[in-house]
Amino acid sequence: MNRKIETLDDLTINKIAAGEVVEAPCSVVKELVENSIDAGASAITLEIREGGKKYIRVTDNGVGIAEEYVEQAFMRHSTSKITNIDDLGNISSLGFRGEALASIAAVSGIEMVTRTKEQKYGTLIKIVGGEIVAIKKTGCPIGTTVIVKNLFFNTPVRLKFMKSNSTETMKISRTITRLSLSNSGISFKYINNNSIVFVTPGNKKLSEAILCVLNKETFKNLIYIEEEELNMKLQGYIGQPNFVRGNRNLQIVYVNGRYVKSKLLGRAIEEAYKEKIIINKYPICVLNLTIDPSEIDINVHPSKIEIKFEKEEQIQEFVYSSIVKTLEKNTTIPRLSVTEPKFRDSQKPNSMPTTRTKIGDLEDTGEGGNITENILANEISEDYIQKSGVRRTNSFIDNQNNDNRERTRVSDISEDILQSSFLDILSDQYKIIGQIFDTYIILEKGQSVYLIDQHAAHERLLYNKFLKEIKDERVVSQRLAEPRVLELSNEDYILLSDNINLFVKLGFHIEDFGTGAVIIREVPMVLGEPRNFSFIYEILDGIGNSDSITDYFEDTIIQRACKKAIKARDRLDYYEIEQLIEELLTLTPPLTCPHGRPIILTMRQYDIEKHFKRIQ
Ligand code: ADP
Ligand code: MG
Repeated sequence: MNRKIETLDDLTINKIAAGEVVEAPCSVVKELVENSIDAGASAITLEIREGGKKYIRVTDNGVGIAEEYVEQAFMRHSTSKITNIDDLGNISSLGFRGEALASIAAVSGIEMVTRTKEQKYGTLIKIVGGEIVAIKKTGCPIGTTVIVKNLFFNTPVRLKFMKSNSTETMKISRTITRLSLSNSGISFKYINNNSIVFVTPGNKKLSEAILCVLNKETFKNLIYIEEEELNMKLQGYIGQPNFVRGNRNLQIVYVNGRYVKSKLLGRAIEEAYKEKIIINKYPICVLNLTIDPSEIDINVHPSKIEIKFEKEEQIQEFVYSSIVKTLEKNTTIPRLSVTEPKFRDSQKPNSMPTTRTKIGDLEDTGEGGNITENILANEISEDYIQKSGVRRTNSFIDNQNNDNRERTRVSDISEDILQSSFLDILSDQYKIIGQIFDTYIILEKGQSVYLIDQHAAHERLLYNKFLKEIKDERVVSQRLAEPRVLELSNEDYILLSDNINLFVKLGFHIEDFGTGAVIIREVPMVLGEPRNFSFIYEILDGIGNSDSITDYFEDTIIQRACKKAIKARDRLDYYEIEQLIEELLTLTPPLTCPHGRPIILTMRQYDIEKHFKRIQ
């Protein structure tokens, strides 16, 4: 059969391309706002209605488009940002593929009003489903406004796949949050269904932008980071290890100011937090990595958020070590708070009764996070925006005096005690109050009381010691008074035989005992005399399920072994407490057990007295 081959017309091509560039209302927002940023705007307003499905408006005060180029801007592969292939290596603008406007215009009703400073009049153009329906002169300020209505009206499949208004709003909020934070020099105003969600000052201070876009509590739990090496620079904010989330949505990373998704960077960040945060929780960060643009490739995907690095290892190592270093210096001791958390709970749209108690609530932790787990500060449901958007914005407007705000905030934060400085002066200035619940050691120092989880501390100390012995290949073994015979299934037996060297390295002496059994004669000294050997089975299960046995050994086995090794006897006398604290001094912050739980908490005299109503 002879099939006819035809070249598609432009409109069809644009509709197909729209499938790649414009997946949802949030992609329209991303493309339009990026165009405004590329146009050098210092103020950008985003307004949406009904999840952006019916209405998206982006207004900027950028350079605008000259009358003679307006029509061309909507043509496929029309861009003012690159002229030939050589420019691709050195892209500093956000857009460059010249397909966004053409794609959006193909699947919506779009209206643009734009004017350059050279022109007295601006230009108005209206395009519906790719067809120009009006183009004329109009009066307007310098800059550009784009309004997109009825997105996907002519692509029924896309239309059907759009999510609920609140889901699409959430995705837009996430997009505009990322764009605002990466451009702290631009003032962003975000309006949803006629309510202002946030306004950023545009004064180049990332801290101020974070405060407006996220919230004060999040901000208080961030650590400033600035590290430089060769021609790489990492700058921004990272979260305290005890302030974590249930997902990665607040891991915001930019490369040269462009928001990117990079597994490589994600891994470097999470590796740096390993053992410092609780399992299945994720650190937060707003980071910008500055590197030579010729060493990256961002043209991997039309949405331009995937990135390839030329020197992967170098970058991963730099990001990792910068974060580790910063955490070591700046981790604070988590505080037991007596004040009721205000903002987070009020964030909840349909405020449910909470089971929180006033005292003993670990402030700002992952635990606290589960109440608002589904409501990220920047993933705002519509109810929430309606209720509190104006309030949040007002608080910014009311308080134009930024210097004042800076001061309040800094003093707020300086109340927190850094773990590193705590350890520095711990050796001689503390008073041991005693031990409670056979678990927590209580110390008093200065204006604070400290609670130390002796199990967590002990586990960390053992773990570090064991790890060092293994690394130095100097694990001390001890002979069991009575050798232990273990019966193994055939599969376990093979696994163990195959990996016997690793067990030897760990300080075990295991011999074949015939017919699928083994005999254990020596165990690592650091473990003490194990009470039972079930952990050997767990180890074997783990080996069977993991890709990298070496990683598994470090990560899991040692952790497990140490957990088993914690002494059964929990009551400590003064001398033993003193000794444990002496040993704590050998650790580097963040002080956490190998599973990421905190070792130390603090409670300030101030908070206690406030609760006794001695002070207001
Ligand atoms: P790209 O951004 O990849 O160049 P677009 O389709 O997004 O492609 O935009 C096409 C062209 O239209 C841009 O290169 C730019 O010259 C112009 N343009 C789009 N939006 C704006 C704006 N807000 N201000 C000024 N010029 C704009
Ligand atoms: Mg663009």
